[in-house]
Amino acid sequence: MAGKRVLIVYAHQEPKSMNGSLKDAAVTELSRQGCQVTVSDLYAMNFEPRATKNDIVGALSNPKSFNYAVETYEAYKKQSLSSDVVEEQKKLQEADLVIFQFPLYWYSVPAILKGWIDRVLCQGFAYEIPKYFKNGFFQNKSALLSFTTAGTAEMYFKKEYAGDIRYILWPLQHGVLHFCGFKVLTPQINYAPERASEDKRKEMVTSWSRRLETIWDEKPIDCSLSWYFE
Ligand SMILES: Cc1cc2nc3c(=O)[nH]c(=O)nc-3n(C[C@H](O)[C@H](O)[C@H](O)COP(=O)(O)OP(=O)(O)OC[C@H]3O[C@@H](n4cnc5c(N)ncnc54)[C@H](O)[C@@H]3O)c2cc1C
Repeated sequence: MAGKRVLIVYAHQEPKSMNGSLKDAAVTELSRQGCQVTVSDLYAMNFEPRATKNDIVGALSNPKSFNYAVETYEAYKKQSLSSDVVEEQKKLQEADLVIFQFPLYWYSVPAILKGWIDRVLCQGFAYEIPKYFKNGFFQNKSALLSFTTAGTAEMYFKKEYAGDIRYILWPLQHGVLHFCGFKVLTPQINYAPERASEDKRKEMVTSWSRRLETIWDEKPIDCSLSWYFE
């Protein structure tokens, strides 16, 4: 799939981590295919996760009472968002596929990645009212969550104490990705690498590379309530 553009939004502090290896494997395989791969390595970039007034350059629309959503929407339209946000929006705008690579933190993404979501996916750029879900802006893009856990696959079942992994996926895949119109691909979940043998961990990395060989042929998941909760 030469010429396709991929953005990997990567959130792990340690390059030698399992997440680091999975990110490297994706860069290697997708580059081998001739894709243009860009990595936003959030910790290495010291990415600012806080949604603050600093995200607006110049005068605020209403300096008396700050409303982040309103101000960033206005700033997007006036092209006065802060340069780090604009840079990420540009990378995302150019991408055909976005891969989020992260360790699961408290049933969600690490704060630095949550900050990327909060700040980059602003109104006007990622969605409009009422242009969201099936009318979302990113209908020509695919997105995929690739993450690791401490809990084993057996724990993440409906009747087990961690609950069905799909419950966790709902806010991210539905509330963020599907909301913005992305075609959501099946998540790549590597359970409990810390408990796994060296061979098993190597197999996790190899399977991810193998999956990426045919990633462009994959169909998106059915983003319906029943996919998550039935
Ligand atoms: C704040 C916080 C909240 C958390 N919340 C949750 C939660 O809600 N649910 C949950 O399940 N877990 C949770 N966790 C655990 C977390 O998700 C796991 O610790 C994390 O996913 C493990 O991934 P890692 O990349 O950090 O693993 P690592 O510890 O980096 O990797 C495991 C091992 O793999 C080795 N390795 C790296 N690359 C390779 C390779 N190519 N081949 C073979 N071995 C390799 C590493 O050297 C290491 O020994 C939480 C952790 C924190 C800190």
